[in-house]
Amino acid sequence: MIITTNPYTQKKIHQYSFLTDDELHLKLNATQESYKNWRNISFKEKEQLGLKLKELMLNRKEALANLISIEMGKPITQCLAEVIKTSTLVDYFTQNTTAFLENQTLDENTYVSYHPTGAVFGIMPWNFPLWQVFRYAFPNIMAGNVCLLKHAPNVTGCAVAIQQLFEDAGYPKHVFTNLIIDIPQVEQVIAHPIVQGVCLTGSTKAGSSVAALAGKHLKKSVLELGGTDASIIMEDADFDTALTSAFDSRTANSGQVCIAAKRIFVPKNKLEYAISFFKQKIANLKHGNPLEKSTQIGPISKAEFLPILQNQVEETIKNGAKLMVGGKINNPFYETTLLIVNKDNPMLKEEIFGPVICVIPYENADTLIDEINNSDYGLGTAIWTTNIEKAKILATKIEAGYVSINFKVTSDPKFPFGGIKKSGYGKELGEHGLKTFLNAKTNTIA
Ligand code: NAP
Repeated sequence: MIITTNPYTQKKIHQYSFLTDDELHLKLNATQESYKNWRNISFKEKEQLGLKLKELMLNRKEALANLISIEMGKPITQCLAEVIKTSTLVDYFTQNTTAFLENQTLDENTYVSYHPTGAVFGIMPWNFPLWQVFRYAFPNIMAGNVCLLKHAPNVTGCAVAIQQLFEDAGYPKHVFTNLIIDIPQVEQVIAHPIVQGVCLTGSTKAGSSVAALAGKHLKKSVLELGGTDASIIMEDADFDTALTSAFDSRTANSGQVCIAAKRIFVPKNKLEYAISFFKQKIANLKHGNPLEKSTQIGPISKAEFLPILQNQVEETIKNGAKLMVGGKINNPFYETTLLIVNKDNPMLKEEIFGPVICVIPYENADTLIDEINNSDYGLGTAIWTTNIEKAKILATKIEAGYVSINFKVTSDPKFPFGGIKKSGYGKELGEHGLKTFLNAKTNTIA
């Protein structure tokens, strides 16, 4: 049984029963039947459905944003932005999938053609409950695959609303299917013959378990995991722009973002400036009811994360960091916290999933690359400088799936997204992501 709870009011929202194993198998078999039809639907028909889906999503944007906010506590203006961004993803793959999947000529006798393979099973987190689901599901559905979802339990209402969106837009039943299941049932889904791929967005621990199951059943997997991303501010950067971007990146979604600027490197001689800049920003931040438009920081999404955050902050301080602001639980919030962190602090290797700004002073930009890469993760890094050529050289040495110069690390439907090292493997989005779970078939004609 799942009971969803509003993290701000801490009141129960709804309860859901897990599918029994028999009910689960009925849904998996129905998905198998649905795929036989869906894989042969024309691109034209899929484009029409995609347009309808986008229209419906935008018509329901307030209701969807409200549901996200109530279930996981994100400030409402950010929830609305998530719905609108998701609608641009639907639009992008509706407009471009046909062209991306045209045959590719290799020589006069040989071409590659792209074909769907079956169902893609998504195991998703709660932090962007709409965006993350569409990120794996919609491109696959456009390409002729069908999708199954196991969402994070605290956003089960969002999962139900997503399936409803597909059905109300006119998609045949079981092209997108939400499965309300418990962790021990995950293997039954992965093992089913209709499932040909598994996408997990979440923690490294969950990624490792699911990748092992996918390996056992010989199913391809994509893992989008955690990060401790760096934001590097060079001496010659436009400082206020860089600091504002790093601050926004670290405080968005109350600090619960995989690609947040979790390690902000500033030149030692600019440390004082950076600290007073961040102090001012924190003083102006409004923590509060996430349903109020003026709120910038909401509650931490799950109550059990609060003591974990507290412990991580205390450990960072014990290992040499200096606390400048915050550092305490203010249930259901975690105070926005500012730390000056020593470069050898072991806690820099841990992902801190909350509004905790870690500023790391550096003396020599030329040796910074080792500090940046001294992480088990590799999701995305931002470089701030006016010397673009130097930044491009630095970018080649950074161990991450994404480098942005003078721009915050972000995801965009057009560009492949995914990390390396313990941040996972494989890509979603863009043409690369679209093709992950397709069969690239070589055709030779003598
Ligand atoms: P999580 O605890 O790993 O949960 C993610 C999903 O995996 C949930 O549906 C969860 O279900 C499921 N899960 C957990 N253990 C599992 C297992 N052993 N077998 C099968 N499924 C399992 O992560 P979270 O707390 O929801 O999300 C925060 C993490 O996600 C952070 O590390 C963040 O950086 C990462 N993230 C990464 C990206 C990216 O694009 N790289 C994007 C967003 C978030 P239950 O809750 O039922 O256990």
